[in-house]
Amino acid sequence: MRVLVVEDEVRMAELLKRSLSEEGHTVDVVHDGPGGARMASENPYGAIVLDVMLPGFDGFEVCRRLRAAGILSPVLMLTARDDIGDRVRGLDVGADGYLVKPFSLLELAARLRVFARRDDRASPVVLVEGDLRLEPVSKRAWRGSTEIELSAKEFAVLELFLRHPGTILTRSQILNAAWDIAYDGTSNVVDQYVNYLRRKIDIPFGRQDLETVRGTGYRLRHRETT
Ligand code: CA
Repeated sequence: MRVLVVEDEVRMAELLKRSLSEEGHTVDVVHDGPGGARMASENPYGAIVLDVMLPGFDGFEVCRRLRAAGILSPVLMLTARDDIGDRVRGLDVGADGYLVKPFSLLELAARLRVFARRDDRASPVVLVEGDLRLEPVSKRAWRGSTEIELSAKEFAVLELFLRHPGTILTRSQILNAAWDIAYDGTSNVVDQYVNYLRRKIDIPFGRQDLETVRGTGYRLRHRETT
């Protein structure tokens, strides 16, 4: 899922980003309160990891503003000490949980898995288009009865197509959804991944479902069901 990390300590932020990316999440990082509030209101994050002590305004204020704006992304607060006042305050402003620094990265990963399961309950358990089938929870995909091995990034791109069958997706839409904002490559990487996917889901099956829409982007062919 897509995760926002709001943490001003650069080394800590980098550690969190690396660790969460290894778990398969797409991670954006910002270093202050105003940036956190802005990013979280512009993007639908599956989880927000929010430090309390931040420049600009603190994590409590970020969380309060998001909830006031109707943004319900799960928030995990990082508190500097095991202070019951901080914990209560975090829950009061609408946080979903907290971790006391120093915490283990394994614990952080486990907490985010709980958020991800909650997120999955709100979305379909299985995405289907024709005989293509994809399970977001288990990260498995099939063409007919044949299971297809996909990398995490290929899976993310295919999931995006299956959530928008028949819709033209531009390279930048695909890039925004499946890569994090710090990715500074070109949209050529999208073409590259669409080609990887074609070699896995189309070519071996004699299909051409991932269509190129010249000058615009790509579209997963949608079959009208009767
Ligand atoms: Ca801090």
